[in-house]
Amino acid sequence: MSVAKLVFTPLSYTGWGSLKELLPEVAKYAPKRILVITDPMLAKIGIAQRVTGPLEEQGYSVTLYTDVVPEPPVATGEKLVSFTREGEFDMVVGVGGGSALDLAKLASVLAVHDGSAAEYLNLSGSKNVEKKGLPKILIPTTSGTGSEVTNISVLSLETTKDVVTHDYLLADVAIIDPELTVSVPAKVTAATGIDALTHAVEAYISVNASPATDGLALQAIRLIGRSLRKAVADGNNRQARIDMSNGSYIAGLAFFNAGVAGVHALAYPLGGQFHISHGESNAVLLPYVMGYIRKSCPKRMADILNALGGNSAYLSEEEASYKCVEELQRLVSDVGIPAALSGFNVPDSALESLTQDGVKQKRILARSPLPLLEGDIRKIYQAAFNGTIVEPT
Ligand code: NAD
Repeated sequence: MSVAKLVFTPLSYTGWGSLKELLPEVAKYAPKRILVITDPMLAKIGIAQRVTGPLEEQGYSVTLYTDVVPEPPVATGEKLVSFTREGEFDMVVGVGGGSALDLAKLASVLAVHDGSAAEYLNLSGSKNVEKKGLPKILIPTTSGTGSEVTNISVLSLETTKDVVTHDYLLADVAIIDPELTVSVPAKVTAATGIDALTHAVEAYISVNASPATDGLALQAIRLIGRSLRKAVADGNNRQARIDMSNGSYIAGLAFFNAGVAGVHALAYPLGGQFHISHGESNAVLLPYVMGYIRKSCPKRMADILNALGGNSAYLSEEEASYKCVEELQRLVSDVGIPAALSGFNVPDSALESLTQDGVKQKRILARSPLPLLEGDIRKIYQAAFNGTIVEPT
């Protein structure tokens, strides 16, 4: 049996109203100057103030930074890192979707390092993270990325994405309060929800999966499978929001330990080249990647089918794996996400540049149960253009 390295951290609070744990947790660090990082929408609708208000009432010096954009480019990271270094803060609180949380992680660590954020990137950088940085508390407001429990900060480059990754990017505290997700629009609920599902599915089929991550991944798939459609149809459905919040958090724990694979590797170039959101990039590719690799892990595909509410009892593993792909396709379509790349206005002519950038994601591709080489990647993108599931020949 292979050895699994498992990191289940940070200290986390989940559940409706768990934001009330913020003040006691902040108090433990006795900070003088707190930087709260969020995006303009969350400041506009008052969610950021639900964090800054109570902190200010306690007498902390609080600076609200809202210059965060979705799928943040490296330049956005550089600007925030400079701001954090100059501000001499001693705590960072990130509140928002994955974009704000990833930048909060980056800023808290690079505040105590020299050099630019670009120099710390995984694929093209030359510097290593060496110090822990400022204490950080992360508060997600979408149910999707799991960023609050991972050691990754994703940044967009010209044509693809890259990450800064180190265990020092892990939060000290995560507060996962589903009440903060009620205002997420249906379209974002759908995309982020499929992102969370993809984390769980890819963690379950990963070559690095282990019994601990298997349990987490399947539970996340169950929660998301039973509640994503409901959360998209009615954002005020409290139980659906709770399930999605827990599902996203648990999927985060699973994929942080087991890794993601082909769907994410191929989604990064889509996001980079066509500015399609991370969740939608994953969603449009999910059925095609899983359809292509299903025969390399049919038993696991059958388990995923059952966790999604299907029944593999009277099917062979091969039949169940096919049904699983159909079920994933149905779920993506039911929440209103286009079923093919044409739905995102990606021209056929992009096939080669997507393939070439996809191949570069070697670290992620290495977790696929079916090795995905250049020819496979080209076929999967082609399938996503045509809207037809294909298999290796
Ligand atoms: P996001 O943070 O970009 O937010 C999407 C939109 O939703 C924004 O316009 C935002 O203002 C809005 N929004 C967020 N919360 C809201 C709320 N409660 N009410 C109303 N509107 C709200 O989207 P995301 O999908 O959460 O994050 C995507 C980013 O996370 C990408 O850059 C992706 O690469 C990265 N990511 C990181 C990890 C990780 O482990 N670090 C994992 C997956 C993805």
